[in-house]
Amino acid sequence: AAQPAYASTNPATGEVAATFDFATDAAIGEALAAGHGAFLDWRTLTVQERAALAKRIGGLFAERCDELARIAVEEMGKPLGEAVEEVEFCQAIFDYYAEHGPDLAADQPITSFSGDQAVVEKRPIGLLLGVMPWNFPYYQVARFAAPNMVLGNTMLLKHAESVPRCAEAIQRLFDDAGVPAGVYQNVFATFGQVEQIIADPRVQGVSLTGSERAGSRIAALAGQHLKKCVLELGGSDPYVVLDADDVAAAATQAWETRIYNTGQACNSNKRMIVMDDVYEPFVARLTELAGGLNPGDYSPLSSRTALDRLKEVVDDAVAQGATLHAGGVVGDGPGAYYSPAVLTGVTPQMRAYREELFGPVAVVYKVSSDEEALELANDTDYGLGGAVFSSDVDRATKVAARLDVGMANVNTPAGEGAEIPFGGVKRSGFGRELGPLGMDEFVNKRMFYVK
Ligand code: NAP
Repeated sequence: AAQPAYASTNPATGEVAATFDFATDAAIGEALAAGHGAFLDWRTLTVQERAALAKRIGGLFAERCDELARIAVEEMGKPLGEAVEEVEFCQAIFDYYAEHGPDLAADQPITSFSGDQAVVEKRPIGLLLGVMPWNFPYYQVARFAAPNMVLGNTMLLKHAESVPRCAEAIQRLFDDAGVPAGVYQNVFATFGQVEQIIADPRVQGVSLTGSERAGSRIAALAGQHLKKCVLELGGSDPYVVLDADDVAAAATQAWETRIYNTGQACNSNKRMIVMDDVYEPFVARLTELAGGLNPGDYSPLSSRTALDRLKEVVDDAVAQGATLHAGGVVGDGPGAYYSPAVLTGVTPQMRAYREELFGPVAVVYKVSSDEEALELANDTDYGLGGAVFSSDVDRATKVAARLDVGMANVNTPAGEGAEIPFGGVKRSGFGRELGPLGMDEFVNKRMFYVK
């Protein structure tokens, strides 16, 4: 028997609810054949026909919201209300591509100088592979699957090993919506099989959301086999507070943003950069919020492994002189509980300065000018998002305009929505998901010329 690998473990209790075997190589071979076969028919449907099926999937997200949210809570531990929000967002994404997909995929006529007829068509390219993480187990898949199904591509989906029940629930949405077999196939693949899939000539592209480590591996495979790839990787987003009329409110907003999804969001505000004249009350308010939490007020991290990794980086900082103002306590028992923390005094030689802290730790830096804030904000290998706050919008806009990021925000933690593109630069990856750009990645912009 194959080694059980995909395991559904409740991070609140450490209990393993179910395990799922790896796919056999033969099953992967069948999935590749089915995915390619399905593509040959799927691409002949009209965009409107495919969009109608996407709309149905959106409807099923809404109908099954409670059940889907509960599975996510049981597998990766996020608060139930946030799981519900994630499912609602998925509905919005499928609805968006169902409604706007036909326009986004429409032909674009070119005015040729010779007066001949030329047009740029948007054609699907074929079978794709998606490799997705556990932190938003539905949303990450929706961003990839919705635009590509409407465009006419077919997909294999390798989800994170910790969320196999979410992965199966997504498959059921496609099946129950009446999407033809082979258009979307969940595969419990090994890393070796991921390589086999990328190497297969029937596969035309791969999209990965995850860590730099996985991104670099997938990009290497994609390069070796000459496949297009999209990478949505980590981030250490700056959150710059230049001034605030109400410092306590500003700190509360920063805190709530940071602990959303128990701090496990790629574009979480992992580095708060605060002007010296508001710094003290800002940190005091964060400390008050963190210190006021009791076990039971917060959710577990996704796993004990995730907790150990986070704790190691925080402990390293403290050992080298950083200050832990509150939190950072590991809960009793087998659950992956780590009390949300506030950390200051982080310096460049500490791991916490360069590495992504993937959990509920508010790291706060003090600066004394807009220029210094900007320098610190850009002193990172990542380039996902960033936000700048000030009561003077022009001042904040000037600073935000110089952030080396894929998503810059003024006076809001993050502008987000199905219609708003998402993605990064530098080591945060390349390519975009969501909005019009999300349907512009795995597409053959075919020039068609008639004399
Ligand atoms: P991860 O360990 O990189 O896993 C992501 C996916 O890649 C999983 O399905 C994983 O499979 C797979 N994978 C890992 N190594 C692989 C390899 N060598 N070959 C094939 N597949 C491989 O990331 P994570 O810890 O789950 O997710 C957290 C990271 O994702 C953070 O860095 C976060 O910032 C980033 N993220 C980025 C975005 C964005 O949009 N930019 C959004 C969310 C998260 P297994 O589960 O089987 O290991």
